[in-house]
This record gives sequence, C-alpha cells and structure tokens, in this order.
Amino acid sequence: MVVILRENPNESQLQSLVSWLEAEGLEVRKTEGQYQTILGLVGDTAKIDADLIRSMDIVEDVRRISEPYKSANRKFHPADSVIDCGNGALLGGGHFQIIAGPCSVEGEEQIITVARAVKAAGAGILRGGAFKPRTSPYAFQGLRGEGIRLLLLAKADTGLPIISEIMEVTQLPLFDEVDIIQVGARNMQNFELLKELGHTKKPILLKRGLSSTFQELLMSAEYVMSGGDNNVILCERGIRTFEQYTRNTLDLSAVPALKTLSHLPIVIDPSHAAGIAKMVPPLSLAAAAAGADGLMIEVHNDPAHALSDGPQSLTPEQFSELSAAIARIRPYAYQY
Ligand code: PEP
Ligand code: MN
Repeated sequence: MVVILRENPNESQLQSLVSWLEAEGLEVRKTEGQYQTILGLVGDTAKIDADLIRSMDIVEDVRRISEPYKSANRKFHPADSVIDCGNGALLGGGHFQIIAGPCSVEGEEQIITVARAVKAAGAGILRGGAFKPRTSPYAFQGLRGEGIRLLLLAKADTGLPIISEIMEVTQLPLFDEVDIIQVGARNMQNFELLKELGHTKKPILLKRGLSSTFQELLMSAEYVMSGGDNNVILCERGIRTFEQYTRNTLDLSAVPALKTLSHLPIVIDPSHAAGIAKMVPPLSLAAAAAGADGLMIEVHNDPAHALSDGPQSLTPEQFSELSAAIARIRPYAYQY
C-alpha cells in the first residue's frame, strides 16, 4: 500500500500517522520527492482501512498495490484448489462438474424425477432450492425444511451430492447433510452468515452479487476462508447492466479474471444470467470453452408449471442434449 502525502505535510500529524502504522505492525518506507512525499507500507495491509487514511488532512491519496484478499489469492496459493463435493464429486483443477436441478424443490415426485433425469444425462451434483430469496413476498418462498428433506431423499435415491441455498444463520442445522451450501447473489455480502459458514468446513458455493466487483466477490470468499473453511466455489450468475432483454448480463470475463486472481474454482450459472431457457445452451458452451470449472443449470420436468424460474428452466431432454454438447467441447476448453 502506498500513501501519497499532500505538499508540506504537517510534521506532527505525519509523525502520528507513521507511529500508528508502525504500531499496526507495518514497516513504513518514506520517499521524499521534489514536490511530494510518499509512504510505502510493507507488511500485511489487509486490516488497514485505506479510506480512514485517505480522510486525513495530510493525505492526498492511498493506493493498494497488493490485493486485500490473502487466502483466496493465487499469489499465495499458485495451484488450483480442488473441492471435494461429496460422493466422489471433485470440482476444480481440471475436474469439471455440471450441477443441475430445479430452481425450487416442489414435491417428492418432482425432485426425484428431475434428479434421476439429470443424473442419467451426466450431471454430477443435484441442485434444488428450499429457501428461496424471491423479489416478491407473494411469490413461492420454498418448502423450507421440508424441501431439504425431499432433497435428501433424492440424494439417497440417486447418490448425487446436493446443493441448496441458505439464507440465514439459524437455518444452518438443517444443512447438516447437505453437501454444498449455496450463498445466493443477494446474500454475497451477508458478512455474519459468511463468518458462520467459515466454521462449517463444508463446500460453499458463493454467487457473485448483482452489482459486485470481482474483488468484492473475493473479499466475501475471504470471509469464509478466514473462518477456516477453504472449500469455496465461486459462481458467476450474471450482473445488473443497462440491458433489459436478458434477466442479467452474463459476465464471462469472470472466468479468465477470477482464474488469474484466485485459485478457487469458478462455476457459471447461465440460467439466472439469461433468464431465458433458449439462451442457456449457447452460454453454457461458451463458459465450458472459456475454461470454467463447472456449470449450474436449472432443469424442470414441467417448466411451464414450475413454481419459480420456469422460463429459464430446461426440460430433461434439452438438458441431456446440452450435456452431450458440453462433453464434446470440454477437450478444447481453454487451459489456464
Ligand atoms: C438460485 O440459484 O436459485 C438463485 C436464487 O440464484 P441467485 O442467487 O444467483 O439469484
Ligand atoms: Mn432460480
């Protein structure tokens, strides 16, 4: 981190800034130029509040030259992380997974039917929402605890590991047998939830917030990792832009960007990004070609009557075709 001082800084204010930084465990290297003096801070600056320093009278600007995330940073962990998702399903470091299933668990027959179909088509992990973060309080809110119970039945039936979204800390005991806990886009910065998840040691699939930067996503991953759980999977699910045609805009640059910045695996969710079933196959193929570590795709046995996200859900037949096409693309995927 570099602190750029204003011209002729007040000596006693400068001395107290330097003493404070040293007390924080940093080495302060002062360089005096003709017009400007800069302080180079050496050490772990992750805990330092750059805005606080920037607000001081003697300070013109503060620039970070190293990223504030450490555990998620590829610089300190060059090898790709491989996440063990349960029942032999590995994700990351060359292990590719398709996560598929309905937006919401709606009933026993529905989840078992879809689970069997996606497994037969090549999915390695079953998704299903039990707690649903809906924009409208009048929309279907999910079967909650009952939804988790049904998902566990589908897991027992198919052997597929399962993933479901948690919305708050009090729901955690219900997730004991859930293999991967999903943190949705709307909860990406629910820091208390992230801290608590850090104590679980379970794989956590962390979705990028609707208007979050890659750095913010990685800082949220850092919350989980700093609690002791390094099993974080990043997920790009589309961001808010000015475009109205699609539900969100799939930011495929997430794959090369996050691969550069972090060792954590990156999964692409084209379903929530596009919001339109027809767009899911081309976006999935593009993500696979770009070198994503996995895909999360919504599949429903009867999309027209789905209780949530029917318009973006593939039928099992469409999913099966797509899964075969992804398998054909995979050998040509970009290697990082
Ligand atoms: C979901 O995966 O069901 C979901 C609600 O996704 P997101 O948080 O990306 O909107
Ligand atoms: Mn959905």
